[in-house]
Amino acid sequence: MTMSPKPFQEESDALNRKVGLGLSKIGQAIRSQAWKGAGSQGLTPTQGQVLAVLAGIQADQPGLRLAAVAEALGITRPTASEAVGTLVRKGLVAKGPDPKDSRAVALQLTAEGRRQAAEASLWPDFLLAAVDDLEVAEQQVFYRALMKMIRNLQQRGQIPVSQMCVTCRYFRPGVHDDPLRPHHCAFVDAAFGEKELRLDCSDHVAAEPPLQELNWSRFLESAVTPQNDP
Ligand code: SF4
Repeated sequence: MTMSPKPFQEESDALNRKVGLGLSKIGQAIRSQAWKGAGSQGLTPTQGQVLAVLAGIQADQPGLRLAAVAEALGITRPTASEAVGTLVRKGLVAKGPDPKDSRAVALQLTAEGRRQAAEASLWPDFLLAAVDDLEVAEQQVFYRALMKMIRNLQQRGQIPVSQMCVTCRYFRPGVHDDPLRPHHCAFVDAAFGEKELRLDCSDHVAAEPPLQELNWSRFLESAVTPQNDP
């Protein structure tokens, strides 16, 4: 058998495709688990996701408008409206007046909706076992890579914008000498490390685009230092 002079060249050229294929397989597993989890509760995955979004607001806080739910999930308003209508009929979601505008409707979970949302939020847990198998250093490199991908997809408008540290006006990347806690959150005035970077922070305030760009380049320049659990 004749060996090619560069037998692995073609393989390495296709690394981006392999990463994409690997992510696609993980996506299939997530969808399959979501179907199982939702099916066991008599919900569609979209209905389960609506429950999960509404579960993110406290019971004593104003509810979310339909448009905000659709935006959070990256789905159209008619699709969100259909899912919400079913959840209202099932007694899992209640409609009430929006305190900011009495003509608008705000959505809240009922007590039963909160219970089912807690179950729905457990669906991704099957991934934790697989992630736990990675070394801490691998998890941190993976997390940073995920943030890059999420930011890229957000900028292309392909997924909803989430409240990440890297787009927050309070984020100060790489300003501390401590390699374990190089970043700073000006909101709580505290240093923090890679593993504390948030993907969905309720205190997030979007920075102006020039500051986001500046912070992003400083974040990329800051080194990743593996942190062991205390
Ligand atoms: S307020 Fe939240 S999102 Fe903003 S930097 Fe602090 S922890 Fe990150």
